[in-house]
Amino acid sequence: MNTIIRGVLLALLVVGEPSQAQDSEFDLDALVDRVVAAYGGDALAGMRNVEIIEAYIGPNLGQSWAPELSDLSKNNFRFVHDIENERAYFESYFKARGGIFPNMIIVNGDEAWNVNLVIGRYGEANSADPYTFGGGTMRTTDTLLARQLHSAREEAEYLGPTSWMNRPHELVKIPFPLSPDLTLYIDAESHLVTRMTRENPQLGALDYVFGEHVAVDGLMAATRVYFSVAGDPNLIGTGRTVRFNRDLDTALFELPDGLAPEAERIDTSEMIVNRLASNVYHIGQNGGYSIFVDTGNEVVGCGGYPDLRGRLAKFQDAIGSHKRLAYQVVTHHHNDHLGGIDEALSMGATLVTVEDTVDVIRDTSQLEPESGRFLTVNDRMTLGDGSSRVELYDVATVHSRSNLLFYVPSTRTLFMADHFGSPYAEGVPAANRNTVSMAEALEPLDINYSRIVTAHNARVYTARDFERSVESFRDFDCPDDRPLCSR
Ligand SMILES: [Zn+2]
Repeated sequence: MNTIIRGVLLALLVVGEPSQAQDSEFDLDALVDRVVAAYGGDALAGMRNVEIIEAYIGPNLGQSWAPELSDLSKNNFRFVHDIENERAYFESYFKARGGIFPNMIIVNGDEAWNVNLVIGRYGEANSADPYTFGGGTMRTTDTLLARQLHSAREEAEYLGPTSWMNRPHELVKIPFPLSPDLTLYIDAESHLVTRMTRENPQLGALDYVFGEHVAVDGLMAATRVYFSVAGDPNLIGTGRTVRFNRDLDTALFELPDGLAPEAERIDTSEMIVNRLASNVYHIGQNGGYSIFVDTGNEVVGCGGYPDLRGRLAKFQDAIGSHKRLAYQVVTHHHNDHLGGIDEALSMGATLVTVEDTVDVIRDTSQLEPESGRFLTVNDRMTLGDGSSRVELYDVATVHSRSNLLFYVPSTRTLFMADHFGSPYAEGVPAANRNTVSMAEALEPLDINYSRIVTAHNARVYTARDFERSVESFRDFDCPDDRPLCSR
């Protein structure tokens, strides 16, 4: 089937209602040619390299200090893709109340490294494919969407005409590596891309809006970009520089001087089962872990991520008993710690948390839990009794107004979320402002813990690891030669 007819059929299927697309066969190939011409013709089709430097501000969605107010964070990115020489460079800074979190990835042919600027170390990157780390920056760059339309024109689908910002547009769907398909809004007169949408199965519609296109290096590029999730602005562009086909500095694609190799990372691709006592286990995979305690008649758990059932089943196998999960403790209101809540509810568990978090759970749960399904902690609470009891402490830190600490006195084990940890098998984890704030909150509680396990890390830490981490804290200073960091 040729592209034009396929385009018309899809327009009928997708748009659903009679539209002008049915009246005549739409020449999608001609439209793609016009887009390529509008963006620079051969300069687009034969692009040798691209550099994108962009700065955003946006709400810290689902990660605010207190549930009733979204606070703001900054995201600064630099992505250089040397297409002709198969090299790539990615540098990013996430700045929020916990501090500055830098990230760097360098790809040079078959070699790919990630660089941790906080601890001055490097390791092998997970992938040498620029789309795995640069895909987000490519999608916020209309010129690269036009280039993708050109290179994927055989698979492009015409969806029909539409109006956007009161101007006639054409809708074209294209594939994009490692992403759901993209729908481009192409201005019917200028043939520039002014909007792109794609669908995230969890979050809903993702929208990219492009404006104030300018000519640069013989191509066109938008200078104003913002990104929305389900209709709400999520990343608002505050500055943007795009360059094409310039002479690139070879040193950019080499490891910076003065770095040491990183320590071995714990392989978390399979479920990790840490036995802390015959009735206490820390269990999880990748970036999500729970602690479970058999208090005698029932099980108390903490640490919410999808597949709570899978982790609980591992615990039940380990202790050789299928006692039910009676209580699931929810550490705080952040969205990444509310996974598995519906699993806990459907297993009949009572959710144990603070009042603020109850409201957030009601908003996110599909099961509309009744009041009786919650047990609210006011400062402190004990679950179970005697030597197998669990103690809960509510503390405020810079990370969240409320954090429930889960302490098992019989094994002197403390479970916490989001304040401490690293992916490495040994060494002292680098502290950030959250870590220091937690140390200050722990001090007056006088908890006699000797071990710490966390919601995001596979390792069992000692109290000394935590102390040394806090002692060695210093705020990350932006290096003088990295202006993107200080923006
Ligand atoms: Zn958090």
